[in-house]
Amino acid sequence: MRLILLGAPGAGKGTQAEILSEKLNIPTISTGNILRAAIKNGTEIGLKAKEYIDSGKLVPDDVIIGIIKERLAKEDCDNGYILDGVPRTIAQAKAMEDMGIKLDKVVLINCKDDTIIDRMSGRRVCSTCGRPYHIKSNPPKKEGKCDCGGDLSTRSDDKKEIVEQRLRNYHLETEPLVEFYKDRGLLVTAENKHTIPETTVEIERVLGIK
Ligand code: AMP
Repeated sequence: MRLILLGAPGAGKGTQAEILSEKLNIPTISTGNILRAAIKNGTEIGLKAKEYIDSGKLVPDDVIIGIIKERLAKEDCDNGYILDGVPRTIAQAKAMEDMGIKLDKVVLINCKDDTIIDRMSGRRVCSTCGRPYHIKSNPPKKEGKCDCGGDLSTRSDDKKEIVEQRLRNYHLETEPLVEFYKDRGLLVTAENKHTIPETTVEIERVLGIK
């Protein structure tokens, strides 16, 4: 199955992608995680991406398209994948079509801006494996530590003013993808529910896999 999870930053794409990956036995491709790893490793892409990420801006399309082309060519993508946080612009979506990528579904996770701003302040992410947590709704087994043993930290772009900037970008640049995929008959919408398992059930329902 080839899926895109679409939604505002903090709507729960990363968390739900991890759960679905495990259930469907296909990898999650998160451009955010790939970029954070590149920054950590000091690669050329990381150096380029850092200032955009830290200021809440989108990384230029050509950088993202290059990353996705290389990643989707790997063998583990042969039986499908879940794209988390990509595409984020019409140009990226069109580039993916030009690469011959055939999608099964695009799931929009609908979440109100107020809920997102509230939620982002409690978000923590593993600096080793990238797994997201929330101090209240999805805590790790041991405080400050990922279940893989890595250290948890707050993302530098989860500060309130940066989150607001990221939400503005979402409405301006990413939300047009809702119509784009609706026109192609690929869009399904899952409402963000109160808990993570309830949202997973909702996603499985709209995907028709439960
Ligand atoms: P995420 O972890 O998906 O929230 O991504 C974190 C940041 O990485 C975003 O705010 C952007 O600066 C950058 N980023 C990740 N994916 C993309 C993308 N597909 N297009 C442009 N920028 C991206």
